Amino acid sequence: MRVDVLVVGAGFSGAVVAERLASHGKTVLVIDKRSHIGGNAHDRMDAHGVLIHPYGPHIFHTNGRRIAEYLSRFTEWRAYEHRVRAKVGDRLVPIPINIDTVNQVYGLALDEETIAAFFESVREPRSPVRTSEDVVLNAVGRDLYEKFFQGYTRKQWGLDPSQLAASVAARIPVRTNHDDRYFTDTFQHMPLDGYTRLFERMLDHPRIRCEVGVDFFGMRQRIQASHIVYTGPIDAYFEYCYGRLPYRSIQFQHEHLPLSQYQAVGTVNYPNDHDYTRITEFRHLTGQAHAGTSIVREYPCAEGDPYYPVPRPENEALFKRYEALASQATEVTFVGRLAQYRYYNMDQCVGAALKAAESVLARLGHDNVEPVEGSAPRVRASAGARAADGSTDEGKRVGVDEGKRVTPRPGRDAGPVGTGD
Ligand code: FAD
Ligand code: UDP
Repeated sequence: MRVDVLVVGAGFSGAVVAERLASHGKTVLVIDKRSHIGGNAHDRMDAHGVLIHPYGPHIFHTNGRRIAEYLSRFTEWRAYEHRVRAKVGDRLVPIPINIDTVNQVYGLALDEETIAAFFESVREPRSPVRTSEDVVLNAVGRDLYEKFFQGYTRKQWGLDPSQLAASVAARIPVRTNHDDRYFTDTFQHMPLDGYTRLFERMLDHPRIRCEVGVDFFGMRQRIQASHIVYTGPIDAYFEYCYGRLPYRSIQFQHEHLPLSQYQAVGTVNYPNDHDYTRITEFRHLTGQAHAGTSIVREYPCAEGDPYYPVPRPENEALFKRYEALASQATEVTFVGRLAQYRYYNMDQCVGAALKAAESVLARLGHDNVEPVEGSAPRVRASAGARAADGSTDEGKRVGVDEGKRVTPRPGRDAGPVGTGD
């Protein structure tokens, strides 16, 4: 089968590019070596009928209105603000560090007037701020650094914070108020029917063919496409010619428990205890009503599927060498967390993919790129994981925008490999 574009990877980056290209008249073959679509954002029911994220908890949040509106063409949403506690000593305290964190850890009674002076008294000023250690010491000083960041980071990355770029720890703010939400983005919602359903709707287009269980490297010689969009690890594409780029992996240990609730918030971080970094309980994220509950523990490791680029100067330098090769390879566009070696959240992948699709369309001779048609997001209080009878933890509507409702279209089965015939 000859197609205009082969898209390697059916995660957010690949699916968005495929949808955009197909909507502009291009024929697209999407392949993924996994047995399913959605990449790391894939979700599914576990053996007990609980909606889980097999590749770890995925909470959608963005300040990008265009991104939220674009995705709203394929899903309605459930409002959800993620909260995280960190186990420090015997207490579970808010992270990001806020006034309550400091008060609970030190038995103080600081308020919005006095917290800044507290941080000023404990911080270790650093200039320049180069590493993740610098970021945290500069903001909150050594004791809070050791209680909340040092152990977690060593587990998560196999590196000390002093060996990681500032951008890693800078993801976690320090608050001078009582806000205990993990994110402060203007749009914080979960797809109402889950991520996989969103992907099914995105890829359900007459000009898109999607084949899972297909490895690009097993069919690369047989490709009949005018262009390739590649969302896998960039070093693999170039056969590791400059050596391997480090990617951090995680082993996910899922467990189902016969309890109505395991923990009070979506995620509990364990900076100092255990080999795992955090435990997430999915019902908080999805709002699903179920007699039992499912949780996941994350054990970071070096070997395994690549999940995280490892932001540090020597890795960036190696990536730049691959990026230079990529800029010479005009037959392929690299996009996404693995291909661009960027610690992207989902919304950033969507943004990068929208941009990549525009450049591919321009390259393939479609210079009148239509703007992304979006829908005003529709938010419902009900859960992403509806039980078989449709019941959810919450029943009432919290607010509905005037946007167009997207009618779900049936997902399509993966067919056999379609190249070369
Ligand atoms: P991926 O989702 O990795 O998709 C790439 C796809 O390419 C994969 O499915 C892979 O199988 C396929 N592929 C690779 N090589 C080949 C090949 N040779 N042949 C065929 N297919 C191939 N982001 C958030 O916004 N919020 C969160 O809460 C959040 N939590 C996260 C938690 C964890 C544990 C992890 C690991 C990530 C989290 N993220 C979160 C980040 C999010 O997963 C990514 O930003 C996003 O899913 C990346 O999309 P992608 O399409 O670029 O890559
Ligand atoms: N981090 C930490 N302690 C925490 C939370 C985060 O040290 O309690 C550091 C750690 O290095 C982590 C990084 O901040 O890898 C980014 O955290 P985030 O929760 O954004 O990680 P992700 O959800 O992407 O795994």
